[in-house]
Amino acid sequence: MLHRTEGIVLRTISFGEADLIVTYLTPDFGPVKIFAKSPRKVKSRFGSSLEPLVQSRISFWGKEDASLPKLTQSDIIHSFQTIRDTLNSFLTVSEIIELTLHFIPEREANKEAYSLFLNALYTIENNSNKNLAIIHYKIKFLELTGYIPKLDACGRCGRKGNCFYVAHGTILCETCSAGMVSSARLSPGAVKLHKDLLTWDITKINRIRPSDMLLSELSHIIDMHIHHILTKPLKSREFIHSLSE
Ligand SMILES: [Zn+2]
Repeated sequence: MLHRTEGIVLRTISFGEADLIVTYLTPDFGPVKIFAKSPRKVKSRFGSSLEPLVQSRISFWGKEDASLPKLTQSDIIHSFQTIRDTLNSFLTVSEIIELTLHFIPEREANKEAYSLFLNALYTIENNSNKNLAIIHYKIKFLELTGYIPKLDACGRCGRKGNCFYVAHGTILCETCSAGMVSSARLSPGAVKLHKDLLTWDITKINRIRPSDMLLSELSHIIDMHIHHILTKPLKSREFIHSLSE
């Protein structure tokens, strides 16, 4: 049957001489892999709509259980060209693409994940503080998928604490953490930034102006937490680190 939805290209893999397998993030099917016939040939009817990050209205054809439905139409809504044109922005986005693909099940409707991702792209495109947009995405994404770390109080008894224990995904107070080795200490500023980012919609994050130090402190905790959940660091993050060395 024919399906119609909109989607953002997360990834493409060459298939044969001229074909592509495109991984879209869609609101109605979550991440979905779709076969695109001959888009690499000149004058393809898909034009440049299969570039990574392009948001399009798409139609695809395939039986309900077909492993690889076929793309029949793709019309660009927004191309996010400026993100693709800047290496730094593109690397930043690669990281959240990987995170998204790791956690969101294929072929399950997920309107929240789609709009979170789409809003993050718009914010990264228009905002100079890309690091803030990225950490906002990660925090909201962890909340959406049920993996948000607890940073405001001890995760066992609710008392105050300021040491994060990555194996437990939470802050623990002195009593509850007796004999354990803390993964990192958190400043009150970082705890507040985490709370603000959780509460605030992405359209309002321009009003938050954290210092670089605070941002990097919280990013460190969040990345450590994600690393622990994935049991390995995100590939793109390792790549970004290797570039900056
Ligand atoms: Zn406690």
